[in-house]
Amino acid sequence: MVIVDKSGVHRLEVRCCECPNAMSPDIQMFRHRFFPASFNRPKTVFTLDLECGTSAMNYYSKLRRMTSSMFPHLVPDRYRELMRVARQWRQLKTMKWHGFGHRSDNPSTGELALFCPACPQPGINVLLSEDESLDDDPSWKYTRSFVMDGNFKAEHLHPIKPFDEVWLSDGLGFMVGKDRYKMHLAEAADTVEKSSCNNHRAVNQANAARHKLESTGIGGVACARHGCFVPHSMVDFQKGERQATSTIKHSRVNHGSLADK
Ligand SMILES: [Zn+2]
Ligand SMILES: [Zn+2]
Repeated sequence: MVIVDKSGVHRLEVRCCECPNAMSPDIQMFRHRFFPASFNRPKTVFTLDLECGTSAMNYYSKLRRMTSSMFPHLVPDRYRELMRVARQWRQLKTMKWHGFGHRSDNPSTGELALFCPACPQPGINVLLSEDESLDDDPSWKYTRSFVMDGNFKAEHLHPIKPFDEVWLSDGLGFMVGKDRYKMHLAEAADTVEKSSCNNHRAVNQANAARHKLESTGIGGVACARHGCFVPHSMVDFQKGERQATSTIKHSRVNHGSLADK
Protein backbone atom coordinates (compact mmCIF):
# COMPACT_ATOMS: atom_id res chain seq x y z
CA MET A 1 0.00 0.00 0.00
CA VAL A 2 1.21 3.50 -0.80
CA ILE A 3 1.13 5.86 2.16
CA VAL A 4 1.50 9.56 1.44
CA ASP A 5 2.67 11.46 4.46
CA LYS A 6 4.28 14.84 4.96
CA SER A 7 7.56 12.96 5.44
CA GLY A 8 7.33 11.55 1.93
CA VAL A 9 5.74 8.74 -0.05
CA HIS A 10 6.11 5.28 1.44
CA ARG A 11 5.35 1.81 0.22
CA LEU A 12 4.45 -0.42 3.14
CA GLU A 13 2.88 -3.80 3.63
CA VAL A 14 -0.51 -3.24 5.28
CA ARG A 15 -2.94 -5.91 6.32
CA CYS A 16 -6.45 -5.02 7.34
CA CYS A 17 -8.25 -6.91 10.08
CA GLU A 18 -10.29 -9.69 8.53
CA CYS A 19 -12.04 -11.02 11.62
CA PRO A 20 -15.72 -11.93 11.08
CA ASN A 21 -16.99 -8.78 12.80
CA ALA A 22 -14.33 -6.45 11.41
CA MET A 23 -15.16 -3.04 9.97
CA SER A 24 -14.72 -2.44 6.25
CA PRO A 25 -11.14 -1.62 5.20
CA ASP A 26 -11.85 2.05 4.52
CA ILE A 27 -13.33 2.57 7.99
CA GLN A 28 -10.34 0.81 9.51
CA MET A 29 -8.10 3.25 7.64
CA PHE A 30 -10.05 6.24 8.91
CA ARG A 31 -9.84 4.89 12.47
CA HIS A 32 -6.07 4.94 12.15
CA ARG A 33 -6.10 8.50 10.81
CA PHE A 34 -5.51 7.61 7.20
CA PHE A 35 -7.65 8.97 4.39
CA PRO A 36 -8.05 6.27 1.72
CA ALA A 37 -8.05 7.38 -1.91
CA SER A 38 -10.70 4.78 -2.73
CA PHE A 39 -13.12 3.02 -0.47
CA ASN A 40 -13.66 -0.58 -1.56
CA ARG A 41 -10.13 -1.87 -1.64
CA PRO A 42 -7.88 1.07 -0.72
CA LYS A 43 -4.41 0.92 -2.20
CA THR A 44 -3.36 4.46 -1.42
CA VAL A 45 -3.90 6.37 1.81
CA PHE A 46 -3.05 9.89 2.88
CA THR A 47 -2.23 10.85 6.43
CA LEU A 48 -4.45 13.54 7.90
CA ASP A 49 -1.70 16.05 8.67
CA LEU A 50 -0.99 16.63 5.02
CA GLU A 51 -2.33 20.15 4.79
CA CYS A 52 -0.16 22.80 3.23
CA GLY A 53 -0.92 26.13 1.64
CA THR A 54 0.51 25.49 -1.78
CA SER A 55 -0.70 24.03 -5.04
CA ALA A 56 -1.17 20.27 -5.11
CA MET A 57 1.22 19.86 -8.01
CA ASN A 58 4.00 21.73 -6.18
CA TYR A 59 3.32 19.88 -3.00
CA TYR A 60 3.32 16.46 -4.53
CA SER A 61 6.53 17.00 -6.45
CA LYS A 62 8.09 18.27 -3.24
CA LEU A 63 6.99 15.07 -1.48
CA ARG A 64 8.50 13.02 -4.29
CA ARG A 65 11.79 14.85 -4.04
CA MET A 66 11.81 14.44 -0.27
CA THR A 67 11.25 10.72 -0.68
CA SER A 68 14.02 10.27 -3.18
CA SER A 69 16.08 13.26 -4.14
CA MET A 70 18.02 11.20 -6.71
CA PHE A 71 15.12 9.48 -8.46
CA PRO A 72 11.93 11.42 -7.76
CA HIS A 73 10.35 10.03 -10.93
CA LEU A 74 10.47 6.52 -9.45
CA VAL A 75 8.26 7.55 -6.53
CA PRO A 76 4.67 6.51 -7.31
CA ASP A 77 2.57 9.30 -8.80
CA ARG A 78 -0.51 9.88 -6.69
CA TYR A 79 -1.27 13.40 -7.84
CA ARG A 80 -4.76 12.56 -9.12
CA GLU A 81 -5.58 10.75 -5.91
CA LEU A 82 -4.31 13.69 -3.91
CA MET A 83 -6.59 16.05 -5.84
CA ARG A 84 -9.58 13.82 -5.31
CA VAL A 85 -8.95 13.32 -1.62
CA ALA A 86 -8.35 17.05 -1.18
CA ARG A 87 -11.81 17.77 -2.59
CA GLN A 88 -13.44 15.27 -0.28
CA TRP A 89 -11.46 16.62 2.64
CA ARG A 90 -12.52 20.17 1.90
CA GLN A 91 -16.12 19.04 1.64
CA LEU A 92 -15.94 17.31 5.02
CA LYS A 93 -14.42 20.39 6.61
CA THR A 94 -17.08 22.68 5.17
CA MET A 95 -19.77 20.35 6.45
CA LYS A 96 -18.18 20.42 9.89
CA TRP A 97 -17.81 24.21 9.94
CA HIS A 98 -21.47 24.66 9.10
CA GLY A 99 -22.69 22.34 11.81
CA PHE A 100 -23.32 19.16 9.86
CA GLY A 101 -20.57 17.16 11.56
CA HIS A 102 -22.79 14.98 13.72
CA ARG A 103 -26.07 15.29 11.89
CA SER A 104 -27.53 12.76 9.55
CA ASP A 105 -29.63 15.23 7.56
CA ASN A 106 -28.14 16.78 4.46
CA PRO A 107 -27.59 20.52 4.12
CA SER A 108 -30.15 22.29 1.95
CA THR A 109 -29.60 25.10 -0.53
CA GLY A 110 -27.01 27.67 0.49
CA GLU A 111 -26.44 26.17 3.91
CA LEU A 112 -22.73 25.60 3.39
CA ALA A 113 -22.02 29.29 3.01
CA LEU A 114 -22.27 32.25 5.34
CA PHE A 115 -23.96 35.54 4.67
CA CYS A 116 -22.74 38.92 5.89
CA PRO A 117 -22.11 39.02 9.65
CA ALA A 118 -22.87 42.76 9.83
CA CYS A 119 -26.22 42.87 8.03
CA PRO A 120 -29.12 42.44 10.46
CA GLN A 121 -30.62 38.98 10.18
CA PRO A 122 -33.34 38.31 12.74
CA GLY A 123 -32.75 35.01 14.45
CA ILE A 124 -29.06 34.99 13.56
CA ASN A 125 -27.46 38.20 14.76
CA VAL A 126 -30.53 40.16 15.87
CA LEU A 127 -32.96 39.13 18.57
CA LEU A 128 -36.53 40.15 17.94
CA SER A 129 -38.22 41.60 21.00
CA GLU A 130 -41.46 39.97 22.01
CA ASP A 131 -43.92 42.45 20.51
CA GLU A 132 -42.03 42.49 17.25
CA SER A 133 -42.75 40.21 14.40
CA LEU A 134 -41.41 40.22 10.89
CA ASP A 135 -44.85 39.95 9.38
CA ASP A 136 -46.72 42.94 10.76
CA ASP A 137 -43.92 45.28 11.85
CA PRO A 138 -42.83 47.80 9.28
CA SER A 139 -39.35 46.41 9.70
CA TRP A 140 -37.38 49.29 8.31
CA LYS A 141 -34.77 48.39 10.87
CA TYR A 142 -34.07 45.13 9.15
CA THR A 143 -34.10 46.37 5.61
CA ARG A 144 -31.17 45.19 3.60
CA SER A 145 -30.01 46.47 0.29
CA PHE A 146 -28.29 44.43 -2.35
CA VAL A 147 -26.16 45.03 -5.35
CA MET A 148 -25.91 42.83 -8.38
CA ASP A 149 -22.86 42.62 -10.50
CA GLY A 150 -20.96 40.23 -12.63
CA ASN A 151 -17.75 39.61 -14.43
CA PHE A 152 -18.49 39.10 -18.10
CA LYS A 153 -15.06 37.93 -19.07
CA ALA A 154 -14.59 34.98 -16.75
CA GLU A 155 -14.69 32.30 -19.40
CA HIS A 156 -15.04 28.67 -18.52
CA LEU A 157 -14.48 25.87 -21.01
CA HIS A 158 -16.56 22.74 -21.24
CA PRO A 159 -15.18 19.87 -19.13
CA ILE A 160 -13.35 17.23 -21.17
CA LYS A 161 -15.26 14.35 -19.62
CA PRO A 162 -18.56 15.73 -18.38
CA PHE A 163 -19.81 12.28 -17.34
CA ASP A 164 -16.88 11.99 -14.93
CA GLU A 165 -17.75 15.17 -13.09
CA VAL A 166 -19.05 14.65 -9.57
CA TRP A 167 -20.71 17.55 -7.82
CA LEU A 168 -20.03 17.49 -4.11
CA SER A 169 -21.89 20.58 -2.99
CA ASP A 170 -24.21 21.42 -5.84
CA GLY A 171 -26.29 24.40 -4.80
CA LEU A 172 -25.20 24.15 -1.18
CA GLY A 173 -22.79 27.06 -1.26
CA PHE A 174 -22.80 30.36 -3.09
CA MET A 175 -23.64 29.02 -6.53
CA VAL A 176 -27.21 28.26 -7.56
CA GLY A 177 -27.90 24.52 -7.93
CA LYS A 178 -27.37 23.30 -11.47
CA ASP A 179 -30.76 21.66 -11.99
CA ARG A 180 -32.65 24.67 -10.78
CA TYR A 181 -30.53 26.94 -12.90
CA LYS A 182 -31.07 24.77 -15.97
CA MET A 183 -34.79 24.88 -15.36
CA HIS A 184 -34.65 28.63 -15.15
CA LEU A 185 -32.53 28.97 -18.29
CA ALA A 186 -34.99 26.84 -20.19
CA GLU A 187 -37.82 29.23 -19.48
CA ALA A 188 -35.87 32.50 -19.49
CA ALA A 189 -36.38 34.54 -22.60
CA ASP A 190 -33.10 35.62 -24.11
CA THR A 191 -33.72 39.12 -25.33
CA VAL A 192 -30.95 40.76 -27.29
CA GLU A 193 -30.28 44.28 -26.16
CA LYS A 194 -29.93 46.77 -28.98
CA SER A 195 -27.67 49.70 -28.42
CA SER A 196 -28.16 52.95 -30.26
CA CYS A 197 -24.39 53.38 -30.34
CA ASN A 198 -22.63 52.14 -33.41
CA ASN A 199 -20.31 49.73 -31.65
CA HIS A 200 -20.97 49.67 -27.94
CA ARG A 201 -18.39 47.31 -26.46
CA ALA A 202 -20.21 46.38 -23.27
CA VAL A 203 -23.44 45.57 -25.08
CA ASN A 204 -21.71 43.66 -27.85
CA GLN A 205 -19.71 41.64 -25.39
CA ALA A 206 -22.74 40.77 -23.35
CA ASN A 207 -24.65 39.65 -26.43
CA ALA A 208 -21.87 37.66 -28.03
CA ALA A 209 -22.66 33.97 -28.06
CA ARG A 210 -19.65 31.85 -27.32
CA HIS A 211 -20.59 28.29 -28.02
CA LYS A 212 -17.26 26.76 -27.17
CA LEU A 213 -17.54 27.96 -23.62
CA GLU A 214 -19.53 26.47 -20.82
CA SER A 215 -19.99 29.91 -19.37
CA THR A 216 -18.92 33.39 -20.35
CA GLY A 217 -18.88 35.02 -16.97
CA ILE A 218 -20.01 34.86 -13.39
CA GLY A 219 -22.23 37.12 -11.39
CA GLY A 220 -24.05 37.36 -8.15
CA VAL A 221 -25.73 39.37 -5.45
CA ALA A 222 -23.94 40.99 -2.54
CA CYS A 223 -25.09 43.16 0.32
CA ALA A 224 -24.67 46.76 -0.71
CA ARG A 225 -23.07 48.00 2.46
CA HIS A 226 -20.42 45.39 3.17
CA GLY A 227 -20.02 43.59 -0.12
CA CYS A 228 -20.60 40.11 1.25
CA PHE A 229 -21.97 37.65 -1.26
CA VAL A 230 -25.36 36.13 -0.68
CA PRO A 231 -25.39 32.31 -0.45
CA HIS A 232 -27.08 30.54 -3.33
CA SER A 233 -27.21 33.61 -5.51
CA MET A 234 -24.27 33.32 -7.88
CA VAL A 235 -24.62 32.04 -11.40
CA ASP A 236 -22.52 31.30 -14.43
CA PHE A 237 -23.55 33.35 -17.42
CA GLN A 238 -24.46 31.19 -20.34
CA LYS A 239 -25.45 33.82 -22.86
CA GLY A 240 -25.71 37.51 -22.30
CA GLU A 241 -26.04 40.05 -19.61
CA ARG A 242 -29.76 40.66 -19.97
CA GLN A 243 -30.69 37.12 -19.37
CA ALA A 244 -28.10 36.84 -16.64
CA THR A 245 -29.59 39.72 -14.72
CA SER A 246 -33.02 38.22 -14.80
CA THR A 247 -31.45 34.98 -13.68
CA ILE A 248 -29.92 36.54 -10.63
CA LYS A 249 -33.16 38.24 -9.75
CA HIS A 250 -34.93 34.98 -10.12
CA SER A 251 -32.57 33.08 -7.86
CA ARG A 252 -32.68 35.91 -5.40
CA VAL A 253 -36.44 35.96 -5.13
CA ASN A 254 -36.42 32.24 -4.68
CA HIS A 255 -33.92 32.33 -1.92
CA GLY A 256 -35.60 31.89 1.40
CA SER A 257 -33.44 34.04 3.63
CA LEU A 258 -33.83 36.98 1.29
CA ALA A 259 -37.54 36.76 1.07
CA ASP A 260 -37.85 38.12 4.58
CA LYS A 261 -37.80 41.86 4.98
ZN1 LIG B 1 -8.89 -8.96 13.43
ZN1 LIG C 1 -23.68 43.24 4.93
